[in-house]
Amino acid sequence: DIRNTELEETKDFDFEQKLRPLSFSEFRGQHKVVENLEIFVKSALMRGEALDHVLLHGPPGLGKTTLSNIISHELGVGFKLTSGPVLDKPGDLAGILTSLQPRDVLFIDEIHRLSPVVEEYLYSAMEDFRIDIVIDKGPGAKSIQIELNPFTLIGATTRSGLLTSPLRARFGINCHLEYYDSEVLKGIVKRSAKILKVGIEDDAAGEISRRSRGTPRIANALLRRVRDFALVKGNGVIDMAITKMSLKALNIDKYGLDQMDHKILLTLIDKFNGGPVGISTIATAIGEDSGTLEEVYEPFLIKEGFLKRTPRGRVVTPLAYKHFGREKNGPQPSLF
Ligand code: ADP
Repeated sequence: DIRNTELEETKDFDFEQKLRPLSFSEFRGQHKVVENLEIFVKSALMRGEALDHVLLHGPPGLGKTTLSNIISHELGVGFKLTSGPVLDKPGDLAGILTSLQPRDVLFIDEIHRLSPVVEEYLYSAMEDFRIDIVIDKGPGAKSIQIELNPFTLIGATTRSGLLTSPLRARFGINCHLEYYDSEVLKGIVKRSAKILKVGIEDDAAGEISRRSRGTPRIANALLRRVRDFALVKGNGVIDMAITKMSLKALNIDKYGLDQMDHKILLTLIDKFNGGPVGISTIATAIGEDSGTLEEVYEPFLIKEGFLKRTPRGRVVTPLAYKHFGREKNGPQPSLF
């Protein structure tokens, strides 16, 4: 499937950087979260203190990195970026922590993937702005305590369920990002088109946003691909005809569902007669872990009305049957 590989690759840092809003006022959607963050940032500025540590959770591509960047801009402080898997040992983290200026923002992406030793090391840094550093090796080794400048840790995660409770408890501010509705995404697509200096018609922007799985990263990636088609096959302006043609060529379905979405829904339809079926059973059937299923894939399918959570398990809706052109007439479960 071209789409998945292409869209994965379009997690292209330079491209995303270019399209990243730099202030709260430019950031669209997520109103509740943004309103609250604006207040906390203002208050920190008034007090002249570091902003409390912030945990941002929600599916990939919804703006966690972007918001963290904005927070540091609005605070007028420096921004350092790292990620859970990169921080291999406490020493890696110590190097970064000691380089922070007062009130700087340290962004740790995929914070659920910190190793337990590094995580534990982070506790005193977050709580008391203090770390222990071991100097020398062997019998002469001793540890000294170092005071850090007060800083704000912003942790981002797609899997908040995997966070340990001691780590979670150290974040004073906790925000969940939701999928965007297509009106808001449409605004994002138009803004990005302007930055990329490509003309786009209103209905075409709407079409791209409806097929972007509620996700700005996907919307921007699709915009870039449709622009290619507009340049090569059209007159450079993105209109509805070019958009439909490109989305067809890219194998993007009417609702923007991806390969994994298809797999989940079709497994439920074909193997379990549409449910109800427990989450761990589905997870085993598709070879994904049930936490990822629950936190990363399901919310969108539920939001769009393809899937329902019931007390007896997950159930596929008539909309999903219709989407795949199936009828709910599979074999009924036998009592014997
Ligand atoms: P995450 O960190 O949650 O995976 P990012 O912050 O990297 O997501 O966002 C992915 C892309 O989507 C970036 O290019 C960013 O500019 C764009 N984006 C995300 N949220 C918004 C928004 N609310 N308004 C405009 N662009 C956005």
